[in-house]
Amino acid sequence: LRNLRECDHLVDRILHCVAEPFEVAPGHPVTLTASIGVRTVPPDDADPDTLLRQADQAMYAAKQEGRGRAHRFDPDLDRQVVARRDLIARIRAGLSLGEMCLHFQPIVDLATGEVCFAEALVRWRRADRGMLSPGEWIPAIEGTDAMAELGDWVLEEALAHCARWSAHGLCAGVSVNVSGFELRDPAFAERVRTALARHPGSPPSRLRLEVLESAALTDMALVTRTIEECAAIGVHFSLDDFGTGYSSLAYMKRLPVTTIKIDRSFVADMLTDPGDRAIVTGVVELARVFGRQSVAEGVETQEHVDALRELRCDMGQGYGIAPPMPADEFEAWAKARSPGMPARARG
Ligand code: C2E
Ligand code: MG
Ligand code: MG
Repeated sequence: LRNLRECDHLVDRILHCVAEPFEVAPGHPVTLTASIGVRTVPPDDADPDTLLRQADQAMYAAKQEGRGRAHRFDPDLDRQVVARRDLIARIRAGLSLGEMCLHFQPIVDLATGEVCFAEALVRWRRADRGMLSPGEWIPAIEGTDAMAELGDWVLEEALAHCARWSAHGLCAGVSVNVSGFELRDPAFAERVRTALARHPGSPPSRLRLEVLESAALTDMALVTRTIEECAAIGVHFSLDDFGTGYSSLAYMKRLPVTTIKIDRSFVADMLTDPGDRAIVTGVVELARVFGRQSVAEGVETQEHVDALRELRCDMGQGYGIAPPMPADEFEAWAKARSPGMPARARG
């Protein structure tokens, strides 16, 4: 072969030959399809075993793409696949080594100032790399069993903290992010129920679950059923990052969520951008009409608080109120905010 085009031609000819119908017996035509994996050398040479493994891998990719076609092995893609596999393994190890921890960010009632919930935000403390935010590594495990393992751990940990706050006289609830992948598990509500049973100090009304609007909620019927099953045990949902997905209004109308969290991209500029202010105003009104509570994310200044109060947005969360904090700092913060008057979680 002199070039890759020649290779493609050759592979096409093989596929065409194989696809020619032939008769196994008179009047019984049979057609076959083939999937071909191609690995060319050079550029990067490798030992024969590796080359065969890579060709095999390309063949599986061809099958996945719909059979009857060829796929050429891509060394860059392979490096990415290997890197992702390593990261997933490292995350799993991190979980069992106790490297994950939760930070909590207050969600407050904008009218009364009381602390309604604390959003649990996972952090990964790696000895070699310091504290990693979820955006740096959660995407790698989305859609894998490691996501479910992390989700279980986060839920347990969040409920344990919530029960502890409660025992210390602080009645704030806890709001936990769940991925679209976790939510598609038909046993999800059961997992939540089991976790709650292990933490009787943390009643269901104190737990809220956040699902990203941009999460591929492909099976609306299944997701709706899961949300309803959770509601039946007293656990309600928030639609997170509202306004960033493809079908915001359809979700708002059809998903039986209790709370709408307005994405911080709209809130951030609402003081200077009339368009963003109009969106925030509209979403707050829409939430009210649909009987949902509204939460503004990314409340960065006191001016945001004042403007949102004026719009009668129910709750706010953001650096202007408080940043995410370790659990004990959150507890101290919440107590100092309303001395002698325990905050009440809204259900
Ligand atoms: P999110 O659920 O929308 O969480 C809010 C994010 O906005 C947090 O980033 C928080 O630190 C940040 N934030 C809070 N206030 C402000 C503000 O005033 N201004 C700005 N610019 N940002 C603010 P974080 O902790 O990096 O989390 C990023 C995302 O990772 C979360 O977005 C959530 O989707 C995901 N995530 C976090 N923890 C978990 C988890 O336990 N499970 C799952 N599935 N996802 C998680
Ligand atoms: Mg969230
Ligand atoms: Mg959000």
